[in-house]
Amino acid sequence: MSDDFRTKIGLRPVINVSGTMTSLGASIVVPEAIQAMGAILPQFVEINDLQRKASKVIARLTGGEAGFVTASCSAGISLAVAGAITGNNLLAIEKLPDMTPEKNEVIVQMGHVVSYGAPVDQAIRLAGGKVMLIGQATSTHRFHMEDAISDKTAAAVYVVSHHVVDYGLLHLTEFVEIAHAKGVPVIVDAASEYDLRLFLAQGADVALYSGHKFLGGPTSGIVAGKKELVRSAFLQNMGIGRGMKVGKESVYGTMAALEAWEKRDHAGIRERESGYLHLWKETLGERPGITALIEPDPTNNPLERMRVIVSPQEAHITAWDLAAALGRGNPPVIVRDHEVEHHYFYLDPCNLHPGQEKIVAARLTEELDKARASNEIIATPIENRSRHRFDGMLRWPD
Ligand SMILES: *Cc1c(COP(=O)(O)O)cnc(C)c1O
Repeated sequence: MSDDFRTKIGLRPVINVSGTMTSLGASIVVPEAIQAMGAILPQFVEINDLQRKASKVIARLTGGEAGFVTASCSAGISLAVAGAITGNNLLAIEKLPDMTPEKNEVIVQMGHVVSYGAPVDQAIRLAGGKVMLIGQATSTHRFHMEDAISDKTAAAVYVVSHHVVDYGLLHLTEFVEIAHAKGVPVIVDAASEYDLRLFLAQGADVALYSGHKFLGGPTSGIVAGKKELVRSAFLQNMGIGRGMKVGKESVYGTMAALEAWEKRDHAGIRERESGYLHLWKETLGERPGITALIEPDPTNNPLERMRVIVSPQEAHITAWDLAAALGRGNPPVIVRDHEVEHHYFYLDPCNLHPGQEKIVAARLTEELDKARASNEIIATPIENRSRHRFDGMLRWPD
């Protein structure tokens, strides 16, 4: 498309089959949110009252007592932890991240310390929290957590993500049970989860979501849960939260996205995405060295992705070289490649505009035909990926 604004300003018109990625602009914002943002931008509003209205919508959708909108889910982690540390002590809020109350320890399972683009533990430390890791990468037991809780414990943070270790750790209900037995509040990072009620229903005191992931809202974070904790987190806007400020358009846009979420035709969208997956399965079905599997989401979100397993001997290309070739092409097709060293990547249909599924199929065919025609197997060493991962970033803005 030559009238694509991206081409006009010299950006590549990427097609996103990787999911909701901050690095690609998160998600397609729903029309209701776009309209709400347009309506509020030229007007003045009393921001704390607007956030009161947001609280009502968030409470209704999450089952929590209260809520507010912040800059991102990552900001939500910092604000919720800060709130658990300071309570409503305005002086302590001003002093953060320096600590007057020393009750600042935050318990996290080692297998939950992941990077969502930045380290989870940094969002906690930013709020003056002292991260107390419990267990080992692939095992946490009750005794680890019980032993770690003391009168210095301010909160326990639980991360729900496809990135976390998915076996051997404490499940949320048990995590909550142990924390609550000693009066410790539980904060759940559910940034990328569909179910807006589940984690609070399972006993979490605060649940955090990204507004710009499945909800299709503007870039934002949603803090929901117990009123007192949510208020203490909100009060951080007079402290460390200032640098995580969200504008009126994002508060109102997120409210609109939440209301649109309630009315969204979830089954219809699922059916459309399922159609894309079946098209790709047909495209890849008979190809030598390619296995295409339709798989459910690892954290039980109601969606499926396609795992494309590449056997370099038969396909004449490695999974990572294929992913890179698709990303370099015209148009660039960006696949979900964080596990590519295992010889597979995923195609995620959730952020496609109708019609793009055919371009994805055509590009896969093109690159696989090219590889098959090559006499040599296209195989750059996998180590080069990690060796060169930050080259471009370190050259920025050049
Ligand atoms: C995306 C993500 C975040 C960060 O969310 P932002 O709203 O982009 O800050 C935090 N935690 C998890 C598990 C995520 O998937």
